[in-house]
Amino acid sequence: MSNTIGISPSVSLVKASQQVLGACPHDCPDTCSLVTTVQDGVALKVQGNPEHRHTHGVLCAKVSRYTERTYHPERVLHPLRRSGPKGSGRFERVSWDEALADIAARLKAIAARDPQAVLPYSYAGTMGLVQGEGMAARFFNRMGASLLDRTICSSAGGEALVQTLGAKVGMKVEFFAESKLIIVWGSNSITSNLHFWRLAQDAKRAGAKLVCIDPRRTETAEKCHEHVQLLPGTDAALALALMHELIVNDWLDHEYIASYTSGWDALRERALRWTPERAAAVCGVPQEQIRSLARDWGTTQPAAIRLNYGMQRVHGGGNAVRAIACLPALTGAWRHRAGGVLLSSSGSFPVDKAALQRPDLLAGRTPRTINMSTIGGDLLRESSPAFGPKIEALVVYNSNPVAVAPESRKVVAGFGREDLFTVVLEHFQTDTADWADYVLPATTQLEHWDVHLAYGHTDVLLNRPAIAPVGEVRPNTQVFRDLARHMGYTDACFAEDDMTLCRQAYGQRVDFEELLARGFSTLKMDDAPFAKGAFPTASGKCEFFSERLARQGLDGLPDHVPNYEVPGTSSRYPLAMISPPARNFLNSSFVNVQSLREIEREPILEMHAGDAAARGIVSGAVVRVFNDRGEYRCKVQVSERARAGVVNGLGVWWRKFGLAGTNVNELTSQHLTDMGRGPVFYDCLVEVQAA
Ligand code: SF4
Repeated sequence: MSNTIGISPSVSLVKASQQVLGACPHDCPDTCSLVTTVQDGVALKVQGNPEHRHTHGVLCAKVSRYTERTYHPERVLHPLRRSGPKGSGRFERVSWDEALADIAARLKAIAARDPQAVLPYSYAGTMGLVQGEGMAARFFNRMGASLLDRTICSSAGGEALVQTLGAKVGMKVEFFAESKLIIVWGSNSITSNLHFWRLAQDAKRAGAKLVCIDPRRTETAEKCHEHVQLLPGTDAALALALMHELIVNDWLDHEYIASYTSGWDALRERALRWTPERAAAVCGVPQEQIRSLARDWGTTQPAAIRLNYGMQRVHGGGNAVRAIACLPALTGAWRHRAGGVLLSSSGSFPVDKAALQRPDLLAGRTPRTINMSTIGGDLLRESSPAFGPKIEALVVYNSNPVAVAPESRKVVAGFGREDLFTVVLEHFQTDTADWADYVLPATTQLEHWDVHLAYGHTDVLLNRPAIAPVGEVRPNTQVFRDLARHMGYTDACFAEDDMTLCRQAYGQRVDFEELLARGFSTLKMDDAPFAKGAFPTASGKCEFFSERLARQGLDGLPDHVPNYEVPGTSSRYPLAMISPPARNFLNSSFVNVQSLREIEREPILEMHAGDAAARGIVSGAVVRVFNDRGEYRCKVQVSERARAGVVNGLGVWWRKFGLAGTNVNELTSQHLTDMGRGPVFYDCLVEVQAA
């Protein structure tokens, strides 16, 4: 008799144990298929599924240690109620019944005055469709709570793709292995897109040229043939100059442009203003490097761009993604299955959001929307006709905003409000949980059902629980189901179990039996989806000029939109700071996993030798990094990873593990991107002094 659950017999089995198929829940494009080995109800190890071609049997170092996270000695195992002053971190254990009854009573009283005074706050702590916005969305829709604009990571780039290609779609990742030129644009793939990097290595071995475009000399940049180390926030200028060179050298696919694009004449005119000389001055790179990159792009087929989200975290992030997304159409790169651009594939997934999230429960109400990127400022706002009611209650799940939201001083002041009722569903006592009135213990991926999409490939994945929940932890779905009951919500949808929600996520569009059997199911798509146009835009074309943007009063063409804080323009704050993730963390997840934190050791600011010497700073020194918004203490690493004039504040450390209880978000601002209302983490000027 088989002792496997949802795994094919061809995978080798450990004796007297079970192997359970799951999906990595973390905010990473790779969405790996997991195999958890369980013995006597205990998860022994988590490995990559060798049968899933995108996982290829390999996980990153972070998730390879997932059992360390699930069985972490500091895991929150019981509901906790605040017993000391706000933010003191003092809590007492209470029963689930006590916690749920009190939370429901408090939310009910606030909702009776105005349900919009209640705000859910969540993001991609799990990417699961069920434990993310499944039962939770139903609960808040039924209440009529404020809606949350989930912008904190990818909304500028996502909106840009929609305005250009029609949806968050792109080339199929597996075909990068056949490309002859790969531009890795704004992605440290070795750290944050490991399985793509394997494909890029295959291409490299077959003779492809790899070019990395990134302000930081990342591990990935080191391994590429060429590194274009531009200034943060100048990517659109570079893309426009590449277009300039494609035009003047006639490296264009005229037939593709004429048949499958719109707005070419206008874009052509715009691009001809961006000479390599002009772009070189803006980007801080040699003009010859721009010319040579244009020659590579214009004369190599198939050629592909792997774009990632770091570069869109600046004022002009949306325009930059639009400019880059136009490049494959100019040379007809889309004609080949190994050509085009990939930023996100998530728009390919036929998720039935209405079935999962039940917006009909709003029953005609249209609550206001709060942008999660401005939570600091919004928590400090009073009621007003423009804003609506003051936020009185916050329910946080799958997110750690006190660590990750910009401009920490405001965020902390907001969470510190005595009159704010805060509930946090969490695995650990995070920076955010410290400010809670109630902390409710949540299941990890090993302890619940879920179903996933991916944004770096096109497979649907199912996650089965491998072990029973430890302690008294509960899935998010169960917490919101129970809260609904306590609130008196009797709608039938609150009685549906997690397996039902998993089935509803895709309905008949994905074979659920295949998911149960194999753990994953591949979407049926053309290998070269845009070889003959057929973009999912209104016109069916790649829209260089966006009528929709123009109707919103915005520029219909992509352009270089300078940073709010342009590098080199402030004598008080002469350094530009970007804050890419530390290699062993994933946003703020894994910072409390001891073995990973031991590798990272301490919060680091990478600094160019010239910038450090000019300030009398030596490697290893503790420094003050500051601007008008705040001050951050960390250690300097004088490093070739930083270009002159730019410092790299590796994140996102929990504040409590940082020096002086701070992290990089002390310095970031709540300005928003040109489209998509996203945050501008990498648009930030600072000064650095020895502490
Ligand atoms: S974080 Fe990414 S690479 Fe690591 S296991 Fe998850 S999906 Fe795979």
